Amino acid sequence: MQRFSYLRPATVAEALAAVSEPGSQYLAGGTTQLDLMKDGVLAPARLVDLTRLPLATIGVEEGADAAVLRVGATATMQQLAAHPALDGLPMVREALLAGASPQLRNMATIGGNLLQRTRCRYFRDPSVGACNKRIPGSGCAAVLGHARMHAILGADEHCIALHGSDLAVALTAADAVLWITGAGGDRTVPLTEFYRPAAEDPADENVLAAGDLITAMTIPLPATGTHSGYLKVRDRASYEFALTAAAVELTIDEGTIRSARIALGGVGTVPWRARRAEAALVGAAAGPDAFRSAADAEVVDTFTVAGTAFKVELAKRTLVRQLHTVSGLPQ
Ligand code: FAD
Ligand code: SF4
Repeated sequence: MQRFSYLRPATVAEALAAVSEPGSQYLAGGTTQLDLMKDGVLAPARLVDLTRLPLATIGVEEGADAAVLRVGATATMQQLAAHPALDGLPMVREALLAGASPQLRNMATIGGNLLQRTRCRYFRDPSVGACNKRIPGSGCAAVLGHARMHAILGADEHCIALHGSDLAVALTAADAVLWITGAGGDRTVPLTEFYRPAAEDPADENVLAAGDLITAMTIPLPATGTHSGYLKVRDRASYEFALTAAAVELTIDEGTIRSARIALGGVGTVPWRARRAEAALVGAAAGPDAFRSAADAEVVDTFTVAGTAFKVELAKRTLVRQLHTVSGLPQ
């Protein structure tokens, strides 16, 4: 048993001060953090509980160009899924409801979801093998070991850890922005620039500095006439992470694709914004040829191992199927 102290601050300023003590880490819903402590992967000297901070509200705000949905970092996944503003952005609601289980969604927060750690067994169980993410420079047991729920994009022989968040995939497609505060002051970071691919440095997962706190995120709400959805392919129908996933938002006018925002899940060391697929689609006639070309354009430069090679074709088919669904065309 590793002893640690526990604080439950009431204000953001108190939380920042508390976490500045060496060895301190934040605790939100605890559904990832406590597992990793029990597994011996994390051993904080102090936990700073965020759940009493006034950061759980969700509301629509009028922005300069369009309305945005502002979501406090400690709002739960279930709270956000139930918000009526997501009627116009179903891919975000569908991603939330495809994640974890109802019990977990009632505990897990939005900030915690975006910062969940990989499910790679070699990362989560120090007794089974080397892991560059846990101990930099020690090696990657997954590359030659058991890999199925692992990444093929943004990966290399040093790390193939999958980013497991469904929500982060939909929010990456939706151009969400994170609001961050810390010792360096306040700043905003687009989610597309927040995560760092494991191929750059397995241990360096995102742009947060020590003690930085995510306070909120804003999601631009799309104009009327935009259609979106989230498709998750997995080994069982619930309580399971994605093998592959696609968040797709399209605007189609008289059969021509006018706008496309796409992200792939289950395949990246980061939620994978599919810019090549978007470029291939905009201006094209909606249909099977354009959809397959877009998928072929996106899933390139993959790094596969024996257990993940099947994902190359599965990821393409997942995207093609979701493009059909969102555009309302028969499969
Ligand atoms: P915590 O566990 O409290 O924290 C997670 C991390 O984030 C910690 O490092 C903590 O320090 C940090 N943190 C939390 N909030 C902040 C903040 N505001 N600012 C800075 N740092 C912060 N997720 C999916 O997307 N899809 C799934 O299918 C899925 N299946 C799951 C199945 C199981 C069995 C389990 C246990 C989890 C599953 N999850 C899934 C992951 C789950 O969604 C996350 O565990 C959860 O969202 C984490 O949120 P939390 O509030 O509990 O975070
Ligand atoms: Fe560690 Fe990444 Fe290799 Fe998994 S894939 S063992 S997290 S280095």
